[in-house]
Amino acid sequence: MRQLVVATRNAGKLREIRHLLEGEGVEVLGLDAFPELPEVDEDGDTFAANAAKKAETIARLTGRACLADDSGLTVAALNGEPGVHSARYAGRQGDDAANNARLLRELEGVPDGRRQAAFCCVMALCLPGEPTRLFEGRVAGRILAAPRGTGGFGYDPLFLVDGFDRTMAELPLAEKNRVSHRGQALRQVVAALANPRRCGVCGDRDENS
Ligand code: IMP
Repeated sequence: MRQLVVATRNAGKLREIRHLLEGEGVEVLGLDAFPELPEVDEDGDTFAANAAKKAETIARLTGRACLADDSGLTVAALNGEPGVHSARYAGRQGDDAANNARLLRELEGVPDGRRQAAFCCVMALCLPGEPTRLFEGRVAGRILAAPRGTGGFGYDPLFLVDGFDRTMAELPLAEKNRVSHRGQALRQVVAALANPRRCGVCGDRDENS
């Protein structure tokens, strides 16, 4: 069976990825299987740069195929912020409540019609001897003035999904996975693993470019 290291310590993400790769002949290993590995600094300007850096670094250090992702929220009225800073928008890494509070503060007074946003996810797949491939998922919506719903995580309670009268936090998990940026990107990865010559929407990324 082929092994694939998924560059995350997030048990939820790992579970989701294992579930989607079931029956594909791939053994999924999380970073917990490699406790000696250092943290990879996510210092890129784009989701793609961060995902590729993580995948290439972990593939090199483990000598195995690696899948890494980076994701976040982009808000048009904030020139694309919080973007790659989504997890630490209010200063402390992963403080969802503070991040949501800052988002609401930044959008105070911005009318409904100008609160468009999108969740974006880029997954980087680094297979031995092949250029890194990037796969992108995106879901559009708008930012509410107050949270709704208790599911999900991060900015989900403030994100009203286009085409639904519900926030991400009000969608059952299976439905979130069906529409979400991460689900979309992951389904492309599954297709690429089943057919190695198939490219992602972001195309191939030559390590030297
Ligand atoms: P990461 O890709 O795990 O580094 O996530 C970056 C940050 O983006 C998270 O900490 C959240 O703040 C935000 N984010 C990414 N995906 C989602 C999502 O599906 N719902 C809500 N927030 C998300």
